[in-house]
Amino acid sequence: MSIENNITTLRDELREHNYNYYVLDNPSISDFEFDMKLKELQALEAQNPEFYDPSSPTIRVGGVVTKSFDTIVHEHRMYSLDNSYSKEDLEDWEKRIQRNLGDAPVSYTCELKYDGASISITYENGKLVRAVTRGDGFQGDAVTTNIKTIKSVPLQLKGDYPAKFDIRGEIVLPFDGFQKMNEERAANGEEPYMNPRNTASGSLKLQDSSAVAQRPLECLLYSIVGNNIGIASQYEMLEKAREWGFKVPTVAKLCHSTAAVMEFVEEWDVARHQLPYETDGVVVKVNSLQHQDELGFTAKAPRWAMAYKFKAEQVFTVLNEITYQVGRTGAITPVANLEPVLLAGTTVKRASLHNADQIAKLDIREGDTVFVEKGGEIIPKIIGIDDTKRPADSKETKYSTECPECHTPLERAEGDAKHYCPNEYGCPPQITGRIQHFISRKAMDIEGLGGETVELLFKEGLIKDYADLYDLTKAQILPLERMAEKSADNLIKGVGESVAIPFERVMFALGIRFVGETVAKKLAKAYKNINAMAVATKEELVAVDEIGERIAESVVAFFSNEKNQNTIERLKEKGVQFSLSVEKLESQTDILKGKTLVVSGVFELVSRDQLKKLIEDNGGKVGSSISSKTSYLVAGDKMGPSKRTKAENLNVPIITEQEFLGMV
Ligand code: AMP
Ligand code: ZN
Repeated sequence: MSIENNITTLRDELREHNYNYYVLDNPSISDFEFDMKLKELQALEAQNPEFYDPSSPTIRVGGVVTKSFDTIVHEHRMYSLDNSYSKEDLEDWEKRIQRNLGDAPVSYTCELKYDGASISITYENGKLVRAVTRGDGFQGDAVTTNIKTIKSVPLQLKGDYPAKFDIRGEIVLPFDGFQKMNEERAANGEEPYMNPRNTASGSLKLQDSSAVAQRPLECLLYSIVGNNIGIASQYEMLEKAREWGFKVPTVAKLCHSTAAVMEFVEEWDVARHQLPYETDGVVVKVNSLQHQDELGFTAKAPRWAMAYKFKAEQVFTVLNEITYQVGRTGAITPVANLEPVLLAGTTVKRASLHNADQIAKLDIREGDTVFVEKGGEIIPKIIGIDDTKRPADSKETKYSTECPECHTPLERAEGDAKHYCPNEYGCPPQITGRIQHFISRKAMDIEGLGGETVELLFKEGLIKDYADLYDLTKAQILPLERMAEKSADNLIKGVGESVAIPFERVMFALGIRFVGETVAKKLAKAYKNINAMAVATKEELVAVDEIGERIAESVVAFFSNEKNQNTIERLKEKGVQFSLSVEKLESQTDILKGKTLVVSGVFELVSRDQLKKLIEDNGGKVGSSISSKTSYLVAGDKMGPSKRTKAENLNVPIITEQEFLGMV
């Protein structure tokens, strides 16, 4: 390839990736790969100034390219919210709360649910020290310099603020600013951005903070977390934050019943259309922080908060064709290819049809006029058809009988909603999908290798499974298209370093069907090493907390497969972690095995989360409410009197924090 060609191709590619990343917020390569390509291009341009082009992607970045953002572990986890869609949902939630809190009167703070990108900003002694994206809730990216450019985010607080706290909020792009940005783009002959939310979240990851500064972003704050912040309720929190100089929307109401909450919802379902930014619901929060503390969290969300989602927008369009997609586990997803239609600010071309039952239930056919709905994050779905518009020659949909990629007949297990392509080791998207999953950030987190390169390596016959990654040599990969010396080195280095990834993540990386991050952790903890897990029977697996039959069967099937056994052997030889680390093992015991402990109140020596972790690390289970099955109630300060009475009535031993720590 000539140098000029090389430069042009790189420019085109980077432009495309820029578009995917910034406009669609849907990157197809890793930031690292992108950086490598950009650097390669910069170097080529510097050496060959005769090919200077004022529209090269290197120019829009400016002089300095920021390296990737640092990953920061959240001191306090960033949770999701549970959703409700009706008055009944809300009333059920209230009942659950009352069951936990006894008959204490409960009030609620209602706020709008802003539709943007969540952010956690840390202040120390009144100064902004760090801003981190939500990421997976446990850790996110430090985007401090970018956040500092948002004019409404105070860099120095005023008034009487706590020495250290995190404040949570949502970065949004108001409609008018968004429109202005798009007008400018149109004037420059560029593609318009799709919607404010993706543009706001894309902005946070812009590498050039001066570009972020030009975007009219807003940061709306709604919650303060920290120790000893001296605040008693959610409503007070909003008031305090305003005092300290934060932008806290004034649309918030203290309600003393769910009926009053419903009034707020109904009012704002209409009034929200006058707001300058997007909202997609109301967040209802139990007002008293002490109540919040009593209620605690589920694995994903606070029990004391609920998002009431506004009814999603819906439109009609024509379904042109049903196609099928194969995922990494072989699961087939039917896809509706639609006549493009504007919905909730985005152009929708495709929608998921979920599975064969869903198609049959709604009798969805090609050529039908379908009703498409989109709410928040979710990919659009088809919720019905207009049968008056059905063409006369319409034919009932026959679900595909073979894999669209490898033509193997599809299978469907009893009770499973999905069809699968059983050709696990011969079906290309399954092979590459499995390897892509293996290298992904939450799995082996292999730097220097991205999804595209995996496909290329597979196409070139260099890898057939993830163990092959560890056999790759520089000499093999260097001749590959656009593989520079440095990127080859980085790939080999990234693979090599991944052997340090802890066992629980390796378990997730293996890509066993139904074994997600949480299940992988449970399994790793229960079996401590892969040899023990590999010989576990279905019955033994089911006995592990939270492991159901479906997962157990899948694990047994995985380990009984000879191919997988070989792959694991090869990974072992390469030094991949197949047992819990010594530190992990040391901090774990079986002392609380079979015991369920309920934690309630405020603690002095350790935080509530640490207490829960200690219970789990010592083999116990954390219960959410007191019952006859509760082994101990660990009682802190300010525990609700109703809990104490209940424990006493059921003869549940009540122990103090010190007594508990003594036990473990
Ligand atoms: P979800 O991502 O649907 O689980 O919803 C949780 C997210 O809602 C949080 O991470 C916040 O970013 C966002 N959110 C928007 N407005 C609020 C609000 N007023 N209170 C709490 N969370 C909010
Ligand atoms: Zn297949």
